[in-house]
Amino acid sequence: MTLAVEPATNPELDFPGRRRFARRVSVMFLLLGLILSTIAVQVYRAVGDFVDAARWVNHSLGVRQEITLTLGSLHSAEASQRAYFISGNVQRLGDYTATAPQIAAHAAKLAELVADDPEQLGAAKELAALLETRIESIQESLALYERGGIEAVRAAIPVGRTRAEDSSIDNIGQRMLRHEDRLQAIRESRITHQALLTRALTVGASILSVLILGVALYLVLREQRHRTASMREARLANRKLLQSLADAQRMGHSLRELANLGEMLQACRDVKEAATGLRISLPRLLPGSSGSVHLINASQTLAQTVAHWGETDDESSDIVSLDDCWALRRGHAYPLSGTTPAFVCRHLLASKAAHPARDHLCVPMIAQGEMLGVISVTSEQEIHGTERSNIIAACEAISMALANLRLQETLRFQSLRDPLTGLFNRRYLEASFEREIQRAERRGIPLSVLMLDIDHFKRFNDSFGHEAGDALLASFGALLGRILRKEDISCRYGGEEFTVVMPEVDTALARIRAEEICAAVRAMDVSYRNLSLGKVTISIGVASYGEHGLTPDELLRNADNALYLAKKGGRDQVVIAEVLRPAPGVSEVDAAARDETGKSP
Ligand code: GH3
Ligand code: MG
Ligand code: MG
Repeated sequence: MTLAVEPATNPELDFPGRRRFARRVSVMFLLLGLILSTIAVQVYRAVGDFVDAARWVNHSLGVRQEITLTLGSLHSAEASQRAYFISGNVQRLGDYTATAPQIAAHAAKLAELVADDPEQLGAAKELAALLETRIESIQESLALYERGGIEAVRAAIPVGRTRAEDSSIDNIGQRMLRHEDRLQAIRESRITHQALLTRALTVGASILSVLILGVALYLVLREQRHRTASMREARLANRKLLQSLADAQRMGHSLRELANLGEMLQACRDVKEAATGLRISLPRLLPGSSGSVHLINASQTLAQTVAHWGETDDESSDIVSLDDCWALRRGHAYPLSGTTPAFVCRHLLASKAAHPARDHLCVPMIAQGEMLGVISVTSEQEIHGTERSNIIAACEAISMALANLRLQETLRFQSLRDPLTGLFNRRYLEASFEREIQRAERRGIPLSVLMLDIDHFKRFNDSFGHEAGDALLASFGALLGRILRKEDISCRYGGEEFTVVMPEVDTALARIRAEEICAAVRAMDVSYRNLSLGKVTISIGVASYGEHGLTPDELLRNADNALYLAKKGGRDQVVIAEVLRPAPGVSEVDAAARDETGKSP
């Protein structure tokens, strides 16, 4: 497993990319600011112009009004004067008197209003001068009227006064009005121009602003999208990293557990011990799982459960036929997930039917090319990746360990057992006899030893052949295995002689057991190649710890002496060794036996 995590690589999101984005957005907002400032200046100017124009319009109106009022008051005064002349009505004179001063006042106001315009000012002054002259003329006429009536006035009217002179005042008024009209037209045109310019600028700037804002929005959204993508990638990378760390931790834990399992299995003495260890180690190595370890039996027909861990699966069987498991048939790991129902291992069918959501994995245990069994794992989740690797690694370790244990057991059996009879050999007897004597001495319990010798065995060899003799020896070995207790140590001492060490058995009980053996041998019906070997008998000598000796040698020698006496006594019988005399040295039985047969036991 690698811990390498790919960096979040989005070319748009690298540092230069981000700088370019910031620069572009800044330029856009600068442009936008410029445009808005231009519009603001233009609007400010336009508003100023509009305000100005409005003032000038008011001013023009004022000028027009004053021109009209000036001329109007003149015409009104003249009308009142004429009406007075014609009617002699004093009231009309009063009207004149009231109106006449207004003419000068309006003319003065007019001159004041047009003071900024030299042309209009000139005209206003000219008008004021003409008005003054006209009023003086009216005053003169009134004075004439008072003195001589209408006739005097008529006589005084200058003959040469033309119509042009009469209308000169009105003409100036009209000229001034036209001048104001011109000014008004110029101002209106300027205002219209300003309004058009402002409108064009605002519309253009608005469109441009909307465009810039659109582009900026697009850039921001794109950036946002990239940021989101980047964050997603970062989150993904983070998750991957955490996952990798968790995997690494799990793997570390698994490796430690696997190492522990390997060590523990190596220290086991036999398969049974290993099975106990597996029950403890496998739940730690494969947490959350359950399963069984099946070992193929010696006859290579079945695989039997030797260890089980986790929740007990009632549906799974303890005995698996070799054909029922695809892992055993194919020789490699067989996961159930993804397989068609037709190819589900038969030993898991019931479990699969009861719990369809569970996943199963069968891994064969193979060592040195030999199929040893299968490990069947069940999990609530799908078994994949690290777990599958762990299971396979555990299987390899377990396979190796079990193969070693089997080899050790075979070697141990071969080194301790006699291959023909399956009984312990003489080496084992020598090793264990001393230990049993010490135990008997320490605990103060009895111990007996039997020496057994098949009677006239040579005859069997001579009559039926050496192989038939072997068959008889094997049958006798099996018979001892059946009759004796597990704690009795039965050995083939050599040839057709056997020794049995019986812990916690005193002389009396040893005699009973020996008699039972004699009876069983007598009842034996051994046949070789369908040919009965006839009757077999056995002679047994018995010696007990304390009574007949304190050391293995002593006890064996005395039991052998007793055996010799049994042979001598006619065979097919049990003889108890003679009780030891207090004085050390060669026993009497021994000496007597030697004397009688000249044969050493
Ligand atoms: P006795 O009743 O006095 O014990 O007579 P016996 O014939 O049993 O005793 P003897 O010592 O004369 O003969 C023992 C024979 O056992 C000699 C030997 O050939 C035979 N023998 C020893 N070991 C084996 C063996 O492993 N297989 C076979 N088939 N014969 C064996
Ligand atoms: Mg013998
Ligand atoms: Mg014999």
